[in-house]
Amino acid sequence: MKQLLTGFFFIAISFSAFAQNNKCYWQQEVDYKMTVDMDVKTFQYKGTQELKYTNNSPDTLTKVFYHLYFNAFQPGSEMDVRSRTIADPDSRVMDRISKLSPSEIGYIKPTLFTQDGVAANYTIKGTVMQVLLNKPILPGESTVFNMNWDAQVPLQIRRSGRDSSEGVALTMTQWYPKIAEYDFEGWHADPYIAREFYSVWGDYDVTITIDADYTIGGTGYLQNPAEVGHGYTVPGQKWMKPKKGKYTWHFLAPDVHDFAWAADDEYVHDTYPGPNGVTLHFFYKNDPEIAENWKNLQPKTAALMEFFNEHIGEYPYEQYSVIQGGDGGMEYAICTMITGGREFGSLVGVTAHELAHSWFQFVLATNESKHEWMDEGFTSYISDEAMNYVMEENKPNPHAGSYRSYFYMATSGAEQPLTTHADRYATNRSYGINAYSKGSVFLTQLGYVIGPENLSKTLKRYYSDFKFKHPTPNDFIRTAEKVSGFELDWYLTDWTQTTNTIDYGIKAVESEGESTKVTLERIGLMPMPIDLYVTYEDGSQELFYIPLRMMWGEKPNPFTELKRTVLEDWPWAYPTYTFEIKNGKKVKNMMIDATRRMADINPENNLWEVK
Ligand SMILES: [Zn+2]
Repeated sequence: MKQLLTGFFFIAISFSAFAQNNKCYWQQEVDYKMTVDMDVKTFQYKGTQELKYTNNSPDTLTKVFYHLYFNAFQPGSEMDVRSRTIADPDSRVMDRISKLSPSEIGYIKPTLFTQDGVAANYTIKGTVMQVLLNKPILPGESTVFNMNWDAQVPLQIRRSGRDSSEGVALTMTQWYPKIAEYDFEGWHADPYIAREFYSVWGDYDVTITIDADYTIGGTGYLQNPAEVGHGYTVPGQKWMKPKKGKYTWHFLAPDVHDFAWAADDEYVHDTYPGPNGVTLHFFYKNDPEIAENWKNLQPKTAALMEFFNEHIGEYPYEQYSVIQGGDGGMEYAICTMITGGREFGSLVGVTAHELAHSWFQFVLATNESKHEWMDEGFTSYISDEAMNYVMEENKPNPHAGSYRSYFYMATSGAEQPLTTHADRYATNRSYGINAYSKGSVFLTQLGYVIGPENLSKTLKRYYSDFKFKHPTPNDFIRTAEKVSGFELDWYLTDWTQTTNTIDYGIKAVESEGESTKVTLERIGLMPMPIDLYVTYEDGSQELFYIPLRMMWGEKPNPFTELKRTVLEDWPWAYPTYTFEIKNGKKVKNMMIDATRRMADINPENNLWEVK
């Protein structure tokens, strides 16, 4: 049935978004001022933090929680035990945490904690610290917390750490005491078991003191380039080459919900012009084997950013940094940490994915632990589209791999619903396929349901309405409803809250004289509207569209060059649906959803051919 696929294009059109009008929404606010003094020989550091916390909720808060992520890297931690008891442990973690010596573990140990200058009592359990406040924080009020702490950077095991396998000295992610998010669902003080973050929006002012030969890349905008140099001085600016010993780097990061940095004494630091005046920074080891790839990556990163600007909305910060560090690829505010010794396609691919997270997580800040598919799935969707374009892959369906993974899981008997908390999937594989693949198919398939132009408009309006907020699954589907005019709650419910599957089939085709009677059947529980492609014996083609009754609407014809006949609605509860083709033409073959955007788990019964 390949001939059915030729000539069907998806065209995105631009769309101007409307302002959000959600009056009961609120979010908490943080204003961090931190200083760090790093000892690069022992990998220990002292930190100070002044945190102005504003309670925008309607509730009076009597306690707060902090994440102390580095405590996960200790033998016997929840992250360690989970990795040693799950059926398919991450190869980077395995039992490595259990073998860390005292000088290799990670920790954050508070040495002082005050609220508005008065000491407060706290309890630490694993990676979470609870503070019972002396003075409740009333709705609309602010308080100032001060914390001093001693810390040790763990050996690189997962995401953060020292001495990565590629020799990067310091990948400093989730490195500071970070106040947990409090939202309409209450506190989200999840222990750090292996994945997913959710944090408070605000401003960061970070001062890092480190040996003079180390270059730092990270989240913030450097405030003192002339003092520290290391590739940050702009043309014409003179680097006041300072004394030996240590430099103090001062960064500001406005409107973010995290702050990450990395440092190495062998970084090459390049800058490259990105779209709309954004400066792209690249930090990579001074290694001739990777230098060419890292140079060629720079224009590709600019092209990727341009693609995301066009298809989601404009990147809202002044800079973005691609930093060699960590153990794979991980997204952070205004930067990413990726491994650098890769084939070129893989290097661009990981950058595309992590850069796309700047939109789907770092600006549209969903609660990843609860809705992991909204950041990983949406990111996979848009980065697969971007790679197809920027790398000229020209795949007819860049999401075919996501569908294959989803089909595997949906028919394995081991699928868990997308509402599963990210930490509590039975296996890492089940989490991965759900979050990345089923989450990506959510969008591609929504394009089938409402039409590709409506999908494109939905993404843009979602960004415009919910940027710098914490959108929920309902916010997204309501956006799709407003854009398309259809009722779509059934789609969100079945795809994300159940493991219902889609299986429609062609049950019978009976020809009698000039007429052909077609009977379709719904075998799976999940509802869908149906596109049925018919090829006649004279070679002409026609699309029959059967709207789903509960959608209350008909999508535009996605293939305007093809004649389309809109049939009666199919009410979901009816297991079969019959209609007649009475145009005098003889049917040669027919196929349900020739584009295969509808994730039908049994494609065999979607095809009928005259014998
Ligand atoms: Zn991701």
